[in-house]
Amino acid sequence: MMNAELVAVGTELLMGQIANTNAQYLSQRMAEIGIAVYHHAVVGDNLERAQNVLHQAKHRGANVVILCGGLGPTEDDLTRQVVASTLGKPLILSDEIVEHIRSLYTYRGREMPENNKQQALVIEGATVLDNPRGTAPGQYIEADGVHYFLLPGPPAELKGMYQEKVLPILQRVQGEVKQVFASRYLHTFNIGESALELKILDIIQAQSNPTVAPYASEGGCTIRLTASAATEPEALALIAPVEAAIRERIGHYIYGVDDETLQVKPGKLLREKGQRMVTAESCTGGLIGQMVTDLPGSSEYFYGSVVAYDNTIKERVLGVDPAVLREHGAVSEQTAQQMAEGARKLMGVDWAVSVTGIAGPGGGTAEKPVGLVYIGIAGPDGTTVGEHRLFGDRTQVRLRAARTALHSLIQ
Ligand code: ATP
Ligand code: MG
Repeated sequence: MMNAELVAVGTELLMGQIANTNAQYLSQRMAEIGIAVYHHAVVGDNLERAQNVLHQAKHRGANVVILCGGLGPTEDDLTRQVVASTLGKPLILSDEIVEHIRSLYTYRGREMPENNKQQALVIEGATVLDNPRGTAPGQYIEADGVHYFLLPGPPAELKGMYQEKVLPILQRVQGEVKQVFASRYLHTFNIGESALELKILDIIQAQSNPTVAPYASEGGCTIRLTASAATEPEALALIAPVEAAIRERIGHYIYGVDDETLQVKPGKLLREKGQRMVTAESCTGGLIGQMVTDLPGSSEYFYGSVVAYDNTIKERVLGVDPAVLREHGAVSEQTAQQMAEGARKLMGVDWAVSVTGIAGPGGGTAEKPVGLVYIGIAGPDGTTVGEHRLFGDRTQVRLRAARTALHSLIQ
């Protein structure tokens, strides 16, 4: 099995100014294609210390070393020098890249600063990886059986380059090993990681191919099944019976597979049915609307939302009966029901999701504690309201309420 090490270069990472999300992204991608990640390193913009990291990686037997960051045009962008000097190879100025970078500047009506030429230095023997999202191209070079990738730091550039350039190379290298990996991700909700693990513990323990790994995700728990075989269909065929056994035990907790997360699944179902939704949000303050509209293309099924924080808005905009608010309170089953029905009618769509609850830290009583949330779903066949007791601080309660609302919508 191939193994990889990830090296993020940048003093800003060490100083805590930015989080190393590139390592997280790359580790997830490595897991998908069955390359084990044995080490993450973060090193500042320092030639000697960065060289050391590369020496150690090689010494530990890494086959793949992915570096990110430090490909910019300034003095402290050292990654090219680090790899070149560690491998004992010269850097060669590529006129083609210089002209390309110059053309990017000309396009914006500017002159290319001289130090941008640094970005056109290519390690002798390396393959240049185009970067249509930025100026710094990446590089790939194999030396002594180690495959080095130099990728830009900005996450959007790194992700694009990974998908378009790095992945095909890794797959080619792996192809020589003749083993592919396939994974299935089963997303569950309303069951904790430990309870879930207990229910399928014997299945987890009995398996080696596929491996079965539950982990906490998105307010729920995801079970990853990964199998290796000579081809992808064969790997998926190994997964199928194990997935069936898991579904027999805990099928009712599983709401989606693979990319069908809580954010994605409602939109997928609505799109299939040609239906639309709106939200009426009190304690979540628009969070559900934000989660739904985070996805491109959500305009096909998401129409809008009313943030009805104050009771006057619940009454005047959503038509909640003042008597209901007086008798049962804003945080009640009745209010949630009328908010959902009012929003559905007001905005003229198939589905409306309402949330009213006590996010805390103040405002709770013995009868209605912090974390009490009512979620209403008004749809073509009527309205249902669920009472939920969520725990955590204000941020967690609001986030859990939003996720629970999305989960309620797809039930
Ligand atoms: P540039 O040409 O923008 O200078 P670069 O390849 O030199 O690109 P860096 O200067 O190291 O990259 O980082 C540029 C920006 O990319 C950082 O300010 C940060 O916002 C982001 N970035 C860098 N490394 C990481 C990382 N490991 N995880 C997440 N974001 C990162
Ligand atoms: Mg930089």
